[in-house]
Amino acid sequence: MHLPRRARAESRVRVPRPRTLVERHPAAGPSRAASRPRRPVIDVHGVSKIFDLGQIKVRALQNLSLRIETGDLVAIMGSSGSGKSTLMNILGCLDVPTGGRYLIDGVDVSEMDEDDLADLRNRKIGFVFQSFNLVPRTSALVNVELPLAYAGLRGERRRRAERALASVGMAHRLNHQPSELSGGQQQRVAVARAIVTNPALILADEPTGNLDSHATEDVLKIFAALNQEGRTVVLITHEPDVAEQTKRVVRLSDGEIVEDTRRLAVEDPPPAMHSMKSAHGQRAHVGAAEAQP
Ligand code: ADP
Ligand code: MG
Repeated sequence: MHLPRRARAESRVRVPRPRTLVERHPAAGPSRAASRPRRPVIDVHGVSKIFDLGQIKVRALQNLSLRIETGDLVAIMGSSGSGKSTLMNILGCLDVPTGGRYLIDGVDVSEMDEDDLADLRNRKIGFVFQSFNLVPRTSALVNVELPLAYAGLRGERRRRAERALASVGMAHRLNHQPSELSGGQQQRVAVARAIVTNPALILADEPTGNLDSHATEDVLKIFAALNQEGRTVVLITHEPDVAEQTKRVVRLSDGEIVEDTRRLAVEDPPPAMHSMKSAHGQRAHVGAAEAQP
């Protein structure tokens, strides 16, 4: 899996990167998070995305600009077809814009080579999708270990995967396969998989779209706790209740931002943290680097 990557890397002259791609924070407490200097982790300048289907050209994003600071918790809303997933795919470097510039942590994505992009996606960004995207007939533990395997990590995989699963309340389901778990539990495994590499940025595309209200609340609490640790969280949703649990709401329509409302300051605790208690009456706390009973 890693040989082709290395082979490609060796066949190219690589320009030294001036700085790290996305700053990685160890699971930091609120005080450290608050004292960290703010700068945009996401900086989108006049980005367009046109899907060329031959006869038809679909303008999915039109001259869109968006800055998101480190530590923010942002909801992206909009009706179906408004360009939310297209935007998320660009933010996550899963797709490239047809126009404009995208800088992630100050680095222009168009100047990164395939290795940089793969590294960025594997280690610095955690993805969560509506449909969980777990590997079927494979245990929760092995599903969560996968990103560590892709990242080339050999030792510690099991221990880190166990800790990530424990941090989302899934320590008791390590050996269950996706089909043996409820939707909410599957999404918690998917969140564990997203955070096991300790990413600074979490991108979630309708993560609660397939969940009932109870499971939705569980997943939102986990996102809130991840944000409280200093991670930037961007989540796409069409549910107003979900958007209410964020600090800022960006609304898209026909590939353009039509509304951008800040509800809480970046350094404020996320809404869910104000009243949040876990099932055991303690403050919810998650993080790949944190061991949980
Ligand atoms: P949303 O996530 O808000 O529902 P999308 O970003 O998926 O919207 O889609 C935005 C527009 O781009 C839609 O009109 C959709 O049909 C179109 N689109 C998305 N992906 C593709 C693709 N791969 N090829 C062609 N058209 C696409
Ligand atoms: Mg979508």
